[in-house]
Amino acid sequence: MKSFSADLGLSTLVNHFGEGEHPLNAHLAPIFQSATFSFPDVETGIAIETGEQSGYIYTRVGNPNARQLASKIAMLEGLDLLRERPGTTPGEVVGGIAFGSGMAAISAAVLGRVRAGDTIVAQQALYGDTFNFLSDLAKNLGVRLAWVMEPSTDGWLAALQANPHPALVYVETPVNPTLQVIDLAQVAELTHLQGSWLLVDNTFASPYCQRPLSLGADVVVHSTTKFLSGHGAIIGGVVVSPHLDYLKEGVQRMLERMGGAPGPFDCWLTNLGLRTYELRMQRHCENAMQIARYLAGHPKVARVNYPGLESSAGYTIARKQMHAFGGILSFELKGGLEAGKLLMDRVQVITLAVSLGNVDTLIQHPASMTQSRMPRQERLRMGVSDGLVRLSAGIEDTPDLLADLEQALAKVPAG
Ligand code: PLP
Repeated sequence: MKSFSADLGLSTLVNHFGEGEHPLNAHLAPIFQSATFSFPDVETGIAIETGEQSGYIYTRVGNPNARQLASKIAMLEGLDLLRERPGTTPGEVVGGIAFGSGMAAISAAVLGRVRAGDTIVAQQALYGDTFNFLSDLAKNLGVRLAWVMEPSTDGWLAALQANPHPALVYVETPVNPTLQVIDLAQVAELTHLQGSWLLVDNTFASPYCQRPLSLGADVVVHSTTKFLSGHGAIIGGVVVSPHLDYLKEGVQRMLERMGGAPGPFDCWLTNLGLRTYELRMQRHCENAMQIARYLAGHPKVARVNYPGLESSAGYTIARKQMHAFGGILSFELKGGLEAGKLLMDRVQVITLAVSLGNVDTLIQHPASMTQSRMPRQERLRMGVSDGLVRLSAGIEDTPDLLADLEQALAKVPAG
């Protein structure tokens, strides 16, 4: 077993960590497309069921492809459990658990920690279904929810003073789809002063741009549907945490009880996508920056939200905590909603579709698409105006993307 550490370059890590020890010397991991795993005899079955012996039982509970993927993403997030536990192998120490969707990961991460009567302090500007999930917890399952309306450090401080000792503090940065940036190190410090845990949804930035655990987060969740798998071929999620008891007793229990297990083939595809993750991210970030600059200088554009623009409110914090500014931006045209619709109907290279982090560029309208299942007032309050357009930059050639936007904008009234 070669030794690996999270200090290795990302591309080395994703191409070698946990690889090369497969049956029959397969160079790529085989797909363990099996619902169940046989036991050689009853005694061994009992030993595996009781945890005395490692092994697989049933794919809802655990599968080699899911385990390989989760341990690799944990490493990508800088969780170097191997260094903390010398002598162990990637197969033995897993700082993460893979799920069948980002929402399955998020719900298990929250329910693995929070009980009825506990408080969650969360920013109000969140991915739509996360907002809906937390709202449902408060409405139906006796969890207290304190929304942070203004997610500045003062806003978090005030919320935590008004709601001391919450079970969980929930953050997403940059925020989907407004691209606000939250100071993770400061929120982590405020959270820990209350004896609480900070959970960060790192889907938008992904570990190439930002590693929340290194800034003090206790739990990181991802929709692996996005940048980590990269090709828009699968739906998946992962929970990563250095709190191994929480992973084992809380998150794993939720996986088993609620059943949000990922399919082995989806894990395998995600792992394959990860092999080019760093290269893709470089191009995603470059393209997003070029598009943001182009739109910011366009006379028909009213506002561009991208943390990499020096004019953006989140720029200073983003510089401090992000290695690169990410592949997503949002903007509003001077002609508002109607102009935005025209633009989205006129693009030819860019695809009109929800989701993000694909190798190809996607454009969508949050108010009628990703954020449509939340009340309008709540949506407006989180800064998602009717005219906001979100763009996830792909890895296509930059001039082609700029030319596509140019021809589409030419057909939009000046506003
Ligand atoms: N978190 C963020 C920031 C997202 O954008 C999304 C989906 O768009 C999710 C979580 C949910 O992920 P999934 O669609 O894989 O369930």
